[in-house]
Amino acid sequence: MSEVLSRDVKFVGGVGEARARLLLREVGVRTVGDLLMRFPYRYIDRTRVLRIDEVDESMESNYVQLRCRFVGKSYTGEGAKRRFTVEVNDISGSAELLWFHGIKWIEKRVEIGREYMIFGRPSLFRGRMSMVHPEIEPVEQALSRKSESGFQGIYSSTEKLSQAIGTKSMHTIVHNAWQLVAADPKAFADPLPEDMRKRNGLISLREAIYNIHFPQSADKLRAAQYRLKYDELLGVQLTIQARRTARHHRANGFLFPRVGHLFNTFYREKLPFALTGAQQRVIKEIRSDMISGRQMNRLLQGDVGSGKTMVAFMSMLLAVDNGFQACIMAPTEILARQHYASMCRFAEGLDIRIAILTGSSKTKERRAALEGSLSGEVDILIGTHALIEDGVQFANLGYVVIDEQHRFGVEQRAKLWTKNAQPPHILVMTATPIPRTLAMTLYGDLEVSVIDELPPGRQPIRTYRYTDSARLKMFGFLRSEIAKGRQVYVVYPLIKESEALDYKDLYDGFESMSRDFPLPHYRIAVCHGKMRPEDKDAAMAQFKSGGADILIATSVIEVGVDVPNATVMVIESAERFGLSQLHQLRGRVGRGGEQSYCILMSGDKLSKEGRARLDAMCETNDGFRLSELDLKLRGAGDIHGTQQSGDAFDLRLANLATDTQIMELTRNEALRILDADPQLSAPEHRSLQELRDRHRRREHIDFSEIS
Ligand code: ADP
Ligand code: MG
Repeated sequence: MSEVLSRDVKFVGGVGEARARLLLREVGVRTVGDLLMRFPYRYIDRTRVLRIDEVDESMESNYVQLRCRFVGKSYTGEGAKRRFTVEVNDISGSAELLWFHGIKWIEKRVEIGREYMIFGRPSLFRGRMSMVHPEIEPVEQALSRKSESGFQGIYSSTEKLSQAIGTKSMHTIVHNAWQLVAADPKAFADPLPEDMRKRNGLISLREAIYNIHFPQSADKLRAAQYRLKYDELLGVQLTIQARRTARHHRANGFLFPRVGHLFNTFYREKLPFALTGAQQRVIKEIRSDMISGRQMNRLLQGDVGSGKTMVAFMSMLLAVDNGFQACIMAPTEILARQHYASMCRFAEGLDIRIAILTGSSKTKERRAALEGSLSGEVDILIGTHALIEDGVQFANLGYVVIDEQHRFGVEQRAKLWTKNAQPPHILVMTATPIPRTLAMTLYGDLEVSVIDELPPGRQPIRTYRYTDSARLKMFGFLRSEIAKGRQVYVVYPLIKESEALDYKDLYDGFESMSRDFPLPHYRIAVCHGKMRPEDKDAAMAQFKSGGADILIATSVIEVGVDVPNATVMVIESAERFGLSQLHQLRGRVGRGGEQSYCILMSGDKLSKEGRARLDAMCETNDGFRLSELDLKLRGAGDIHGTQQSGDAFDLRLANLATDTQIMELTRNEALRILDADPQLSAPEHRSLQELRDRHRRREHIDFSEIS
């Protein structure tokens, strides 16, 4: 690294010993390089000055700049509650500025009757604007100050740090640091080869660093952000793709060369329906992995109802045909039991032994599962988290399927494949579609299969939004569906599984349902997480067999539950569910040939986001589109898995979820480079090694082995 960049930050003009200590303690900045690698998280256009009446709700909690006269001041409260208020106005209206601390310091700077530039985040209450702890500067002084550019960067800070170094001084300090770099052409030498920069239209690193701090124009700022994101994501891709390449070179996969008796018999004689093209393709993809000599790590994405279970079952037959055991782990007891029931049905007449193990397995069932797995007598073991317990051992586990993989933690999943000295083939299945970009990063070193086709004859589910005033209409509709012999789900939100109170909604709902749907005509079953497993089972079994018309439940039925005769899904307080959860719940209907419906009940008053979610549900049935939308609404942080991978890399500008285009470009570059030089050991790649390691925070997550 260049000498300038490793210099102690205390030597930068405007810093000194005390501020240097604070910078280190509060934000981990030790050197000039550290300081310049902290980028602004937003910019204000200093050339733009608003009138008070131009500030509207859309600007709330964004920085704005105003030019106002101070017309009055007042103090309220005592002690810690003391606050200082300044009344200000311009030709368009008035506003108030508030200070809760640092009052002594600020009141000395306030001169009533004088004009100030005011800079801060507005909040609006009944049309009146106020600003807490704004920056103020007398107008004459602000106008005389020569600024580096019209944009001023805002750096993230802490309370202590911002008291010592405000927005303006931070700006000055960073500028002084840049002066040191400007004098040293070796600082921020470009790690990317010239041809690669040309090919990707990237500006130089030095130019990018300068413009990220002091944008000379909006275009320059964009170019700088693009370049710096590119470097970050190239680092990420070099890490991930190197793992993939390494895994491909490792020949340690079990070989399943035979398409044997079980698979063939099942395929020819027992298959209950014709496979969709997508199911066939995915089975082929899995099979080609199983004969490749490499260990399979495959993610199977398929929207709810696309028929993943059959793919899992048939690929497990391939393992058993080759003398290996297979297991499938599901996130809930209900789902594990359902898999057990349907797989036993599929396997009728085949020479194959299937066992189940869950947390509530009774002694006999448990013993059969444990002993059978250990001796090798059990071919397919189905279960919940119970499968990862230490007591569960296999004679020769060759294949592991994880259903609804996002419901499991990384460590939980990883435990399953350490049960063998040699890692089994792994298929993780999810119905929560992950947008393509995110999949590329989270699972960049996995193979991805997609079932993008629903079984034939499915009609798109019709989705409607009702408020409480339409409840009677909704009940009328349920009656007419039940009269046709169909079944109905009614789902209530659950806030915290641990508190009995949270079942109040469900039980209130049950009571009002019992009133509106009186016996003997209607049979209502209830199912929620707090019930004893056998009661849950009984309720599910009753509903599944048609012994109940209505199933009142919490989101325990969210994943996997398959009752094709159910045609209506009513979701109460739908605004309280996330988008992917709503989509999952809706996926419980529309599984047979009948027209199905999803009714979203909500209050009249909805947040902007809540409304957007419900509207999106009414608009589309496409899980991939919904997940892209979800990303936009929530940001990437909340999408499963991002947290894990987000933490593994230290990214300052790039967003794993939304920087699609750069992600693809860097991925291709990374593959090209690694193909020629897997270790990055060539002299011209040395700087890329640094780039790669700069953004790697933790080593212990190895994506190729977690899922
Ligand atoms: P998911 O992908 O959500 O796990 P399932 O495997 O539960 O979906 O399948 C949903 C329903 O579709 C089940 O009732 C299943 O038997 C049925 N199914 C699966 N594949 C087909 C097919 N090719 N043709 C007709 N029905 C199918
Ligand atoms: Mg499923």
